[in-house]
Amino acid sequence: MRSVLLGAPGSGKGTQAGIISERLGIAHVASGDLFREAASRGDEVGRQAKSYMEKGLLVPDEITIRMILERVAAPDCARGFILDGFPRTLEQAKALDMALGKRGEAIDRVFYIEVATEELVRRLSGRFICRSCQKPYHPVYSPPEVTGRCDHCGGELYQRPDDLPETVKKRIEVYFAETAPLIDHYKEAGKLVEINGQGEIGEIVERLVAALPQD
Ligand code: AMP
Repeated sequence: MRSVLLGAPGSGKGTQAGIISERLGIAHVASGDLFREAASRGDEVGRQAKSYMEKGLLVPDEITIRMILERVAAPDCARGFILDGFPRTLEQAKALDMALGKRGEAIDRVFYIEVATEELVRRLSGRFICRSCQKPYHPVYSPPEVTGRCDHCGGELYQRPDDLPETVKKRIEVYFAETAPLIDHYKEAGKLVEINGQGEIGEIVERLVAALPQD
């Protein structure tokens, strides 16, 4: 299965993509994680992406598209993948369709996770991320078993600099301007499934599982 998780920052895409990809045994490809990893390695893509990320802006399409198309061509994506955070512009969506089309493949399904804006701000401003595996936590909604440590790999939890209030506001604005139009793009293609993203993490997982293709 090749799918996309679409939703605003804080809608739970990362959490859900992690759970679903493990259940289905397919790759979880998160553009933001790839950029953060590149930035911490200090390589060329990381250096280019860093200034945009710090401001809550989108990294230019050219850089982003190249990085993701390379990633989805890797052997671990051959059985399928879940894209989390990509595409975020119409240009990116078209480039993805075209690249997959050339290999005789296509995106099967796009899950749009809907969450009210006030809830997004609440979630993002309390969010902590694992420095090693990037798993997200929240002191109220999804606390770790040991404060400051990742349940999954024991890594250190930290607050992303772009989860600070001013940048969160900007990221949500950018989402509505640049990414929300993709909802119509995928609706017209007959691929969009809307998922209510409010409630307990387990409930949202079940809604997603119920919407997965049955074959
Ligand atoms: P995320 O972890 O998905 O919230 O992404 C963090 C940041 O990485 C975003 O605010 C952007 O600066 C950058 N980024 C991630 N994915 C994309 C994308 N598809 N297009 C452009 N920039 C992206």
